[in-house]
Amino acid sequence: MIVEGDIAEWIYTQMKTQGTTDQDMGSMEKALDRVTREVRRRVLERLTQEAAAGEEFGCPTCGRMLNVVHHHQERTVESAFGPVRFERSYGWCAHCRHYCFPADVALGLHERATSSPRIQEICALMTLQAPAGQAEEDVQRLTGLTLSASTMQREARRQGERALKLRQKQEQLTETPDGVAVLADRAPRLPQHSTLIIEIDAWNIRERDHWGQTKARRKAGQEPERWHWVYTATVFRLDQCATKQSGRPTITDRGYVATRQNLESFKRQLYAEALQRGLLQAETVLVLGDGAAWIWKLATDTFKNADQRLDLYHAKEHLWALAGELYGKGTVEAEAWVRPHLRWLDQRNDGARDVIRSLDDLQRALNAFDQNQQKALAREIAYLTEHKDRMDYKYAKKQGQPGGSGAIESTCSQYQRRFKRTGQFWSLTGDEALLALDTLHRNGRWNLLFPRSDDRS
Ligand SMILES: [Zn+2]
Repeated sequence: MIVEGDIAEWIYTQMKTQGTTDQDMGSMEKALDRVTREVRRRVLERLTQEAAAGEEFGCPTCGRMLNVVHHHQERTVESAFGPVRFERSYGWCAHCRHYCFPADVALGLHERATSSPRIQEICALMTLQAPAGQAEEDVQRLTGLTLSASTMQREARRQGERALKLRQKQEQLTETPDGVAVLADRAPRLPQHSTLIIEIDAWNIRERDHWGQTKARRKAGQEPERWHWVYTATVFRLDQCATKQSGRPTITDRGYVATRQNLESFKRQLYAEALQRGLLQAETVLVLGDGAAWIWKLATDTFKNADQRLDLYHAKEHLWALAGELYGKGTVEAEAWVRPHLRWLDQRNDGARDVIRSLDDLQRALNAFDQNQQKALAREIAYLTEHKDRMDYKYAKKQGQPGGSGAIESTCSQYQRRFKRTGQFWSLTGDEALLALDTLHRNGRWNLLFPRSDDRS
């Protein structure tokens, strides 16, 4: 019987023989990794072969026994320790009418891809973290593995498609009372009197759908690229907001939603996320956003009993713009006019109504302003009137609630940094998958794709 000490002794001798022990520690670590790699590969190969041989011949889809079973078909998989070869059986499921390889499914292998689950995971994680090209180099440095950029992209895309399927399942659950109950059950137990905050926004991405058809499309008078909305939301509890030592606000745990699909799909995704974050337990639900009409329609449709709040910063921007129109941009007069109005919003109960009253008074002084200024006044009165019930900022402060939607704005810029690199186009079909993968990762549900990835043992 071999004891642990013997293996260590053997590796030590190998290292000595190769002269890899008189370097700095980082080099020793890398050399040790290299020297033991073949041993680990052989162990993995043997274990894989045994697992494949022990697998029953049931259809992975329906569970029925396979009819015609063929034995000993060979397959090679790229593992974290190099290529691993094994044999397994496959058969025909008369019910599903397909050939299947039950051992492959049990081992977590994809039909066509040659990567082991560990490699799949490395590709997916690294593609999310680093731009293409950089990821390749970093993987080589960290693991000693050589993976091409195209392998990494392909694997990440494949995992993204799995993430999309999971997301679609969640969306479907929102459509029945039973499904809603399933999602709500996944929420942690909320503290008493919890406030759930939902912030919503959208950003733009440049997209290209018709690769290689640029000239033809231009001839036909169609632009090959266009801008597309990415609807985005974040969900968190008020008691999960904290202040860092630096004084900067931070949120300890929160959910994300991001999609380029239509608003209906976004609505279902957001509802699913909110349910899983405790929507049905929260005492207060608060939706925050800017002035975009679709946000408030969605909020009213989906979160019927929620309070709504217009982002304070946007409201103030509107008043600054109006001050510029009326008294000249950047003038002392403009500032003198706008300051008290800003203060009313911050400090008065129903401050928005006082602001509207003041604008109404200005509008009655017809001779004071020209036609464009009159138009601007009318526009801002309409804006404020539309949102006046969403503007109780004094109350928000008293409740410790945010007055602004800063959390969603930082969320959007995080997504943009990752997905909106200069000159990079999106293809409509593929990159929604990466968006889904990124969002699943942010939401702390990586283990749904790689169930054993959270093992610490
Ligand atoms: Zn079947």
